[in-house]
Amino acid sequence: MNTARIVAIASVFMVLGVWAVSRQLDPPPELVSFSGATMGTRYSVKSPNLELDWDTIALSVERELERINGLMSTWIPDSELSRFNRSRSTDWIALSPDTHRVLAESIAMADLSDGALDITVGPLVDLWGFGPGRGNDGPTVVPDPDKLERLSELVGYHQLELRDSPPAARKSNPELQVDLSAVAKGFAVDRLTEMLTDAGAVDFLVDIGGELRAAGSKADGQPWRIAVEKPDSSARLPQQVYPLVETGVATSGDYRNYFERDGQRYSHLIDPRSGRPVPQTLASLTVFDRSTMRADALATAMLVMGAEEALAFAETHQVPCLAILRSPEGLLVGRESSALRRLSGGQP
Ligand code: ADP
Ligand code: MG
Repeated sequence: MNTARIVAIASVFMVLGVWAVSRQLDPPPELVSFSGATMGTRYSVKSPNLELDWDTIALSVERELERINGLMSTWIPDSELSRFNRSRSTDWIALSPDTHRVLAESIAMADLSDGALDITVGPLVDLWGFGPGRGNDGPTVVPDPDKLERLSELVGYHQLELRDSPPAARKSNPELQVDLSAVAKGFAVDRLTEMLTDAGAVDFLVDIGGELRAAGSKADGQPWRIAVEKPDSSARLPQQVYPLVETGVATSGDYRNYFERDGQRYSHLIDPRSGRPVPQTLASLTVFDRSTMRADALATAMLVMGAEEALAFAETHQVPCLAILRSPEGLLVGRESSALRRLSGGQP
C-alpha cells in the first residue's frame, strides 16, 4: 500500500469512523463470482450486474447443473442416460426433451464431421481406460486386439434412431451405449446462459471446465477475453488472447487426459473410425460458436480429425477455430482458420 493511500484511509477514519475505513480497505467488488464442482470438473459464473439477487441465482444454477447431470451423466448410475444404456430393448425409449435435444445435435454434428464425433464410442473409451467402466483409475494398458474388434462393432451412431414427439430414442443394436461427455458441458453452459438471461443478467461469463459462454461485457465495458492455454500438462501458460462477444468457446486437447506407454501418448479421444486414441499432431483445438454445445461438439470432432483434416474442415464449413499443432521437434504452433481471423479483426 502506498503512502497516499494510507493517508487517505487515515483521514477517512477520522471523519467517518471505522465503518468507512472498512469500506476503504475493502472496496465493493466489481464482479459477482461463484463456482463449484460439476461434471468431473468445476464451473464458475462471473457478472458485474451487482443489482441482481445472486444468492437465488446461484442456487438455481446449482440445481440446474444437478438436473442436467441426473439426465446425461454416464458416471451417475441412475441418470436417464445410464438407464438408457442399461436397457437392452430395441423399442422406443422415452427421453426428456433436453436429452433428446443433445442427442439430436450430437447426431447432426456426427453427420457433419463424417463420424469423427460419435456418441456411441463409449465402449471403446472404457476399453482404453478413460470411461466410467473402469472406475476412475485412468488408463493403464493397451487393449487386446480381439476385444477391440468385438467392441468396435458396437460403435456407430447409425444404430441409434431418434423420434421427435414424444421425444424418444431407439437402439437397433440392444448393446448400444451412448456417451455425451463430449457435448454435455457445452449444453450445460448454454442452459446456464438462458437461465442467467431470464434472471435479468446482461453481462456474464459462464465456464464449465474450460467451455465458456460470454454475454455483454465486463464492468469496465470491455469485452470478456479468453486466453487459450499453451497445451502443456506441466504449466498453464497463455497462448493467445481473444475477445468474446456474445459467443461460446470450447477447447479439446490431448494434453491433460492421456497416458503414455512405450513412448507413445494415448489421448482420451477415440477415433471411431479406427477404434484407437487419436494421434498426436494436434495438441489442442478451440472452436468459437454462438452455441457452446456446437462449439464443444466441433472441438472434439476436429481434434479427432487431426490437424490437416480439421483445418480443411474449418475452411469448408467456415468454423472460427484455433488449432495448436505439435511439430516433430516438439514445438507448438498456432494456426487460425480464416473465419477466426475475420472474427478477431485480422485479415479476411
Ligand atoms: P474434454 O473437455 O474432457 O477434453 P471433450 O469435449 O473433448 O472433453 O470430450 C471427451 C470425452 O468424449 C471423452 O472422455 C469420451 O468420454 C468422449 N469421446 C471420446 N472420443 C469421442 C468421439 N470420437 N466422439 C464422441 N465422444 C468421444
Ligand atoms: Mg467436446
